[in-house]
Amino acid sequence: MTNIVLFGPPGAGKGTQAERLRDSFKLNHISTGDLFRNNIKDQTELGNKAKAFIDKGELVPDEVTIGMLKAAVKEDRYGNGFIFDGFPRTEAQAEALDKFLFELQTEVHGMISLDVNDGVLVQRLLERGKTSGRADDANEDIIRNRVAVYYKETSILKDYYQAKDKFYSVDGVGSIDQIADRLAEIVKKL
Ligand code: ADP
Repeated sequence: MTNIVLFGPPGAGKGTQAERLRDSFKLNHISTGDLFRNNIKDQTELGNKAKAFIDKGELVPDEVTIGMLKAAVKEDRYGNGFIFDGFPRTEAQAEALDKFLFELQTEVHGMISLDVNDGVLVQRLLERGKTSGRADDANEDIIRNRVAVYYKETSILKDYYQAKDKFYSVDGVGSIDQIADRLAEIVKKL
């Protein structure tokens, strides 16, 4: 089993690259952003709870997010492994993930960061907002808040995985194929 955390700021291309890795390595792709959006669309209790946070560009509380993630993993835990996209985003989530995977007798094998500078990110997200229909992509202030939350709460996870010798990073600027190749080189060795 190979479990990968795909890491990087909003707009870094995690979703696109996660799909490529899913197909190349036959892994399950779990995107907490997609799970939240599906719940919001279906107007579930969880979706209703999460919506207010997401629309402001804030993080959904850990308790809600961790519960949702565990349920998704349990549903499909017998494959080759997982790509976690958008999770963990806080240290509490990283700790919960370690504990949970340990209970399933597995672990995070590597976190791979997609490095993209802020100017490119905001442009990409505004561009995506024209077609994504996502409220959190539509407004520059909300986008900037998401990037700020990333630097404040999430970027420290680099140290968390580095301390375990599990941190890798690739240049996230280039063509989709180029970046997919960079990621595949790392995943092959995990
Ligand atoms: P992006 O990385 O492009 O901002 P995502 O689709 O990964 O988009 O996430 C969208 C929103 O969903 C986030 O801004 C946040 O509000 C919420 N969210 C997603 N994953 C998490 C998480 N692990 N913890 C808390 N909130 C999350």
